[in-house]
Formats: sequence, C-alpha cells, structure tokens
Amino acid sequence: MLDKLGVKPTSKILYEKIRHPETNRMTSILNGTRFLYIEPLSDDRVLPRLHTCAGLQCKIFHFGQPKKASNPICTNCWKTGHNRTRCTSDAACKVCKQTGHLPGQKDCPYFEQQKHLTPFCGSEDVLSNFYPCELDICGVNHKSAEHAFQYIKAVRCGDLEAANTIKEADTALSALRFGKKVKVNQQWESTKAEVMQDILENKCVQVPMFQEKLRTSKQSTIFVEATFNDEWGSGLDRQGTLNTKPEHWPGSNKLGLLLKKIAKKVRKRKLSDSVNRKQRNSNRDQSRQLNIVQMLKQLRTASDSDVSGCNPDSDSSSDEGK
Ligand SMILES: [Zn+2]
Ligand SMILES: [Zn+2]
Repeated sequence: MLDKLGVKPTSKILYEKIRHPETNRMTSILNGTRFLYIEPLSDDRVLPRLHTCAGLQCKIFHFGQPKKASNPICTNCWKTGHNRTRCTSDAACKVCKQTGHLPGQKDCPYFEQQKHLTPFCGSEDVLSNFYPCELDICGVNHKSAEHAFQYIKAVRCGDLEAANTIKEADTALSALRFGKKVKVNQQWESTKAEVMQDILENKCVQVPMFQEKLRTSKQSTIFVEATFNDEWGSGLDRQGTLNTKPEHWPGSNKLGLLLKKIAKKVRKRKLSDSVNRKQRNSNRDQSRQLNIVQMLKQLRTASDSDVSGCNPDSDSSSDEGK
C-alpha cells in the first residue's frame, strides 16, 4: 500500500495502545490503529482519506490533510486535490480555468457584456437576503431574510440553541456564520429551496420597497446574486457576473431564479392570496415542527441522565474537550 501511495516510511509500523480512562496511564491494550512516520510529502500533496490494504478498506489520517473526506477544490487554480493555502500554481479564471485573466475580463472566452442583468449583493441592496428588514415568519420576528432562513434551518434540524443565537445575531452575516455550524439533515437539503421561496414571498408582502423593485422589473430581467456562492449566486463577483455569459457562470443562481419567479407573480398581482394561505398552513407546520423538536429535546435529556446514571465519569470528560 505504501508503494502505491508513493510514500517513504522512516519507521516500522507501530500499534496504538489505549490509555486507562481514570489514571490516563498507557495500557498494553491495542485499539486497532496502526501508525508510522514517513518522509514529508511534497508541498501540494495530501493522501486520500480512504484506501484498501490487503483487501481491507482503511482510513488514512495525517497532519495537514483537509478535514473533509471529499476532494477539495483549490480556489486559486480551480484544480482538485489541494486547497488554496497549498497551491503552487498560477491563479486561473474560475469560468474557463485558464491563467492570465480573471472572470469578466476581455481575454476570457466567455466574456460578454450583459444587458438585462439586475445583480444584487450585500446589506445595502433590498434584493439581497442581507438587507436589514423586519420580517414576521410564522409568528417569529427576524432581522433579515438571512436570519429567517438560518433560523428555520436550525429549528428543522433540531438545534434550538443555534436557532436562538441566530435570532439574536446583530447582522445577517453573523446569522449566516452561526447557521453554517448547524449540522443539516437530508430532509433540510431537499426542502430548503421551498423554505427560501416562502421567506422571499413573505418579504415581498411585508417590505414594500422589495415588492416595488420586483413589480417594476421587466420580463426579460435576469436577477442574479453576484457573490462567490455557487449554489444561490453566480459564483462570481459583480464585475465577473456582469461580463460573463450566464450559461457559463460557475454558480447556479438559485436565488436569482426564485426572485424571477416571484416577480412574475407580483406583476400578475397573485402573491398576497397565496402568501396568506401558505402562512396559515406553515403556522400549522411550525407548531407540528416545534412539537417534534420538543419531543427530541425531552428524549435527549432523558438519555443524558441515563448515561450519567450508569457511568458518572464518562459524560463530563467527553463533553468538555469540545
Ligand atoms: Zn491550486
Ligand atoms: Zn476565463
């Protein structure tokens, strides 16, 4: 296996032993982990997290290895297998992956000045989720659409503590940062676009300036979140977005597409009714959701006390290190 990985060992294979949980003294019991020292890897190399050895799948961990098991993408040269801090290549264009220019510059093969774009980003722009505004979603008051989105994410994933922190966050950016720490589940992944649409439709009813901006847009207008976010935005900054053919934006611009959909409803004056109806339905959903969260909390408290009942040492030591 070592040959295949192209690493040079400088020690023989050693076996890790476990320490006694109370005295912390080394025991002679093996925990199954093997380790060895190797010659330093060349600068941009990291070893894969998974590998087979004698027909068995094993995990490899080493210093400097990215935490995620997935292949990292470098945001400097856009190649995979390393990250920006370890990059030794020249900077490349995120759109065409060639060097010597940036997205939106004339040398890029996908350069084209766009005419019907309405790019938005940042807290100054009413179209952006970062724009500070009072929003009532299912009876909870939020300071921006971003606050609302991150809050609902935390509630739906059962993290009430994070939900409260998000709700109290001063700015949309800090709400986003707290929200990023929430461990999301598959159900959230498959419903988040709907949640976003609900929030934006509510914003449209509750924030007149937002509604006006959508109502006065043309049918041909392409809304686009000009941020580096590859899911909700174009994946490019403002300059890059304005001067790149939309089909070559690295991001999928989900937010812009949602705004276009809502703008169409607003122009046809179909929004208020549907929002009110949804608000009633989601009030019901929300209380159902809170019941589930409440139940989970009770279950967790019950199981925590069980653990401390059987083994008084275990829970305090494992929690405090985190
Ligand atoms: Zn790179
Ligand atoms: Zn390019």
